Amino acid sequence: MSSFRYWGVEIWFVSMVTIVAIIIGLFTGYTGEILFVMTASYLAWHLRQIYRLKRWLTTSRDLYPPDSEGIWSDIFHSIYLLQKRNRKSKKRLTRILSEFRSSTAALPDGAIVLGEMTEIIWFNKSAENLIGLNVRKDIGQRITNLIRNPRFVSYLEHGDYTLPVEVTSPIDDDIKLSLRLTEYNKNQRLLMVRNITRLYQLEKIRQDFVANVSHELRTPLTVVNGYVEIFSDSKEQLPTFFHRPVDQMGQQVLRMRSLVDDLLTLSKLESGDEPVREVSVSPSMILKRIVEEAKALSEGKHKITFDSDNDAIIKGNEKELHSAFSNLIFNAVRYTPKGGQIKVTWHQLDDGFRMAVEDNGPGIDAVHLPRLTERFYRIDDGRDRSVGGTGLGLAIVKHILERHGTRLQITSEVGRGSCFYCDFKAVK
Ligand code: ADP
Repeated sequence: MSSFRYWGVEIWFVSMVTIVAIIIGLFTGYTGEILFVMTASYLAWHLRQIYRLKRWLTTSRDLYPPDSEGIWSDIFHSIYLLQKRNRKSKKRLTRILSEFRSSTAALPDGAIVLGEMTEIIWFNKSAENLIGLNVRKDIGQRITNLIRNPRFVSYLEHGDYTLPVEVTSPIDDDIKLSLRLTEYNKNQRLLMVRNITRLYQLEKIRQDFVANVSHELRTPLTVVNGYVEIFSDSKEQLPTFFHRPVDQMGQQVLRMRSLVDDLLTLSKLESGDEPVREVSVSPSMILKRIVEEAKALSEGKHKITFDSDNDAIIKGNEKELHSAFSNLIFNAVRYTPKGGQIKVTWHQLDDGFRMAVEDNGPGIDAVHLPRLTERFYRIDDGRDRSVGGTGLGLAIVKHILERHGTRLQITSEVGRGSCFYCDFKAVK
């Protein structure tokens, strides 16, 4: 029977009983009393049905409803259908949840769900193993109470999660982890934890290899250089045939020495073993000195200017900053043809300072820009080698600037020139 029919029958039944009660009342003279008794019985019946409904919903384990009549039979049946549907979807959800749990448990990467206040809501088995989380103790704890690494704390606060952050596991110094946050919903974040110990070890082996080879090359190079210098100094005693080879040997030894020195510098910077050792430095003074050196290097072939609107002091390593700035300025001198202009500036910004080196040299095609700071990346191998660089200069600049909390930025247009710049925060 459809719902409407139940209600129709109920209304028909109530109307009929009321009419019969009124007729009997008219005959007996007790209309009010009979109507009262009838209404009270009807109400009592409804109360009983409500009570049965409550008992069925709260105490009974039976899915099937108790027998009933009239509209109550319809109500019981509708609730029964609703419960059946709910049980079905609950079963489906439980199955999905248990599948999700087993698959995330099998994940080699740790997954941690963080709430609005970075409190831990849920994590998988791998997160337990990699970070040492404990279901009983750590649910609801802030993640920064468990991973206290300052790099991770500032990554979390910074809000820029495009790149992961690398930290040492809080339970084992030998385990290196890569942590990456992803935001979802409104204020929830998923923290993915990857074990990168093997990658880290390989990278360390590579760094050590480069550092050791460069170091070992230093001694033989010094010896060769010594002999080449002796030959150069007494060139007039050598047959003319040897003059050109001796000059070329001198140039190549010098080039190899620069290469070895740059490789060693890069290894030191990459290893991060040495802290930045921040002291107060005046970038405008450093730049002024380098511009004078650049003028000497240019030998009057370029118009080199320096403009600074402040003598601000920042925190940093003077030697490293000198090396980074001079790499950029000397590159401008080396790559800008005769007659070109080079502008070096140190200007105040709203919340810091900008160092920029601008030239009107050959410029760099946009396809090269993302790779320019890679080791040995060159645009035109022949031309760049003849200019005499090692191909490591911008890689060194990148590392130094990163150690100083800033980033090398490059804008360039072929045929118009290039601008290499970076922004520093003001010291508070
Ligand atoms: P190199 O020692 O070869 O100069 P760098 O790492 O300093 O190596 O620079 C990488 C490459 O970037 C250079 O080989 C050169 O092609 C290009 N480059 C750097 N500075 C400039 C510039 N001011 N103008 C044009 N090209 C440049």
